[in-house]
Amino acid sequence: MAILVTGGAGYIGSHMVHALADAGESVVVLDNLSTGFREAIPGGIQLFVGDTGDQNLVSAIMKACDVDAVIHFAASIVVPDSVRDPLGYYRNNTANARSLIEAAVQNGVKHFIFSSTAAVYGNPADVPVTEESPTVPMSPYGTSKLMTEIMLHDVARAHDLGHVILRYFNVAGADPQQRTGQSTPMATHLIKVAVQTALGLRPQMEVFGTDYPTPDGTCVRDYIHVTDLVRAHAAALAHLRRGGPNLTLNCGYGRGYSVLQVIEAVKRAAGHDFAVRYSSRRPGDPATIVAAAQRARQILNWRPAYDDLDVIVGHALAWEEHLAAAERHANAGARSA
Ligand code: UDP
Repeated sequence: MAILVTGGAGYIGSHMVHALADAGESVVVLDNLSTGFREAIPGGIQLFVGDTGDQNLVSAIMKACDVDAVIHFAASIVVPDSVRDPLGYYRNNTANARSLIEAAVQNGVKHFIFSSTAAVYGNPADVPVTEESPTVPMSPYGTSKLMTEIMLHDVARAHDLGHVILRYFNVAGADPQQRTGQSTPMATHLIKVAVQTALGLRPQMEVFGTDYPTPDGTCVRDYIHVTDLVRAHAAALAHLRRGGPNLTLNCGYGRGYSVLQVIEAVKRAAGHDFAVRYSSRRPGDPATIVAAAQRARQILNWRPAYDDLDVIVGHALAWEEHLAAAERHANAGARSA
């Protein structure tokens, strides 16, 4: 029996693959390497390069590797891109998920863990948001994920495929052992952009909107360390293997930080100031989104280990330094070759 991790060469997926390999699980990865990296996967783990929408390939993998669980990370994840290219998001996130779920049903897969998002809540009227809060996404990205949630609910009524839907809040940080991290060069996420600016890889960064109805006028988010998030997936899989019921769970810490607070934390970690420009709002951004985070703790007995913004930012900065050093090394090698 094996676990198929889609998007296992990507940021969160590669942390998952490391954790599963550490736990002695049998793992195979499907990734189209559009944003992932072969090197992010630990040695000895089989990688299939392809799309989750390629049902022939997915079925062949499920049969050949005796897959009984799927952890589905592969997706497009940039909110403003989804506003510009909704059909691309519905293809990659919704249509491909449909194809993957169908292959899972046809091949007798028992467990499905799905990467959903706090973006399904849109701009919530009440914060923190519980799993029962209304789902009114304000971007095609959020809608594309919500549509997959709905498919999983319907499929669970018709077929023997159990699921846990995890709604991620803002995932950040890197493996504390620095084996993997957020490696996408043009990543748009706040902590990544801020640590790159701190290291001089960008001349300055922008704060998107200072007129939100929040204490300092900038957006508030619930930042969760990627390692804690991955542990929630492991706990979700254990839950399904025990025969536990289908679940939808928020994955956050239940505490929010503003964009300016995050930038201050990055300046503290770096030990110096850097240039920040204040600009207008980015389309699709809700003002405040913070998780009601008790349910995962209660049902999965999930216990976060890195619930500290300074730790999250410190690990992100260390990973960015690691990437910058690797790049210098590669450039020096190219010059001397
Ligand atoms: N943000 C920003 N500057 C950046 C990147 C992000 O001000 O360079 C803001 C963004 O507008 C949002 C928050 O930081 O309010 C978190 O954005 P991110 O893209 O990290 O995650 P999202 O909440 O969109 O999933």
